[in-house]
Amino acid sequence: MSTASIAHYINGQMTPGRSGQTQPVTNPATGEVTGQVALAGSADVEAAVAAAAAAFPAWADTPPIRRARVMFRFLELLNAHKDEVAEAITREHGKVFTDAQGEVARGIDIVEFACGIPQLLKGDYTEQVSGGIDNWTMRQPLGVVAGITPFNFPAMVPMWMFPVAIACGNSFILKPSPLDPSASLLIADLLKQAGLPDGVFNVVQGDKESVEALIDHPEVRALSFVGSTPIANLIYERGARHGKRVQALGGAKNHMVVMPDADLDKAVDALIGAAYGSAGERCMAISVAVLVGDVADEVVPRLAERARALKVKNGMELDAEMGPIVTRQAHERITGYIDKGVAEGAELVVDGRDFDAASAGPGCEQGFWMGGTLFDHVTPEMTIYKEEIFGPVLVCVRVPDIATAIQLINDHEFGNGVSCFTESGSVAREFGRRIQVGMVGINVPIPVPMAWHGFGGWKRS
Ligand code: NAD
Repeated sequence: MSTASIAHYINGQMTPGRSGQTQPVTNPATGEVTGQVALAGSADVEAAVAAAAAAFPAWADTPPIRRARVMFRFLELLNAHKDEVAEAITREHGKVFTDAQGEVARGIDIVEFACGIPQLLKGDYTEQVSGGIDNWTMRQPLGVVAGITPFNFPAMVPMWMFPVAIACGNSFILKPSPLDPSASLLIADLLKQAGLPDGVFNVVQGDKESVEALIDHPEVRALSFVGSTPIANLIYERGARHGKRVQALGGAKNHMVVMPDADLDKAVDALIGAAYGSAGERCMAISVAVLVGDVADEVVPRLAERARALKVKNGMELDAEMGPIVTRQAHERITGYIDKGVAEGAELVVDGRDFDAASAGPGCEQGFWMGGTLFDHVTPEMTIYKEEIFGPVLVCVRVPDIATAIQLINDHEFGNGVSCFTESGSVAREFGRRIQVGMVGINVPIPVPMAWHGFGGWKRS
């Protein structure tokens, strides 16, 4: 099978770049190498920044209503081509096609939001703050800005960033994950077709070297990062040293509390979808079930039955509920965590390591497969409780009451999302007020805010 060359996109052109370095891209369902992605060196970053800087003045001067019209055309094109983007995601990330479609749909929400930029960019004005003096604020673009994004949402997370940045009049450089880089190029092509001037949106493929070159480049005014906490820290610190604006979203360990009065059908459904959807490779995945009172005795057997029955298949099969793990290394990391959970004394109720890759479909024998894993009687000292596993592993912690549940969650270093299942209004209210986590849901599996609300975790998330 021939492999594709996956290029950079600079100044409106696909380019292989100057570094000569590449990295294989793999289909995790089959283990086949499907492409070679270019890895940018500093000369490639320099070329992208030069293109973005040259495009900036004219784009910044373009009236917001005209910038919005480009976004409207992009929105139409994205809607027409959303399944192509979703297919590229499934091929390189492995998540099931319906989930990839959902990812693109959540990105489209942001593009719709950015179409309203003339309204959003209005400043404030006060007449006569003092005798004969008026006061106003203006919103102005910064210049060249960059986004560094993770493998797990190769279309949605870039679309958290560039539609708003571009609609505001900035020029943008995207540095996607080298694990699943193709979606970024499909998006670049749609933006060009929508009439976006060359140089306003650029894609630099690569990893550490290209990110460091972007952070250190004096023309890059602001950085938006989404990924793991150690890298978020590096980027935040290095960007701050250069006096740049940096937003850095990190990792997670999200809890769902199930109260004894909860609707257990809904709670079990929610846990299965939120723990095993996208093979647990979501920053908003639920990886800890906090089972209050004696509810565990009923919930754990039901979770076990559902985890064993998950349809773990090639993501292009339309009835697949869970696909493969993104890479062999990630598969090894997750397997290592399961081994550690057993060694540290947790009760392994369902063992995803047993999964037979051949059952995922024809050609899947060499893919990176595992089934859903369920642990019970997990305690806060265990590694599988403390660390982000980022795989299809759900751990159950038993606690006596809601106060202990809240304390447990507040003591965790991460605080991205959390949910509580209860039929009690007062428990729901108290939970929402006392919990120290950025995004809180009641009776919902994953509390993801819509585009026009802020998305963001607390603490080390
Ligand atoms: P990652 O931190 O390994 O990589 C993220 C980005 O940083 C990629 O573009 C990568 O190429 C780059 N990078 C990697 N190492 C680098 C280095 N040493 N220096 C500079 N850049 C580097 O994350 P990932 O594995 O791609 O994504 C999964 C992680 O992202 C999980 O921890 C998940 O929780 C987190 N995530 C968080 C959110 C959120 O909203 N908080 C959303 C999605 C994913």
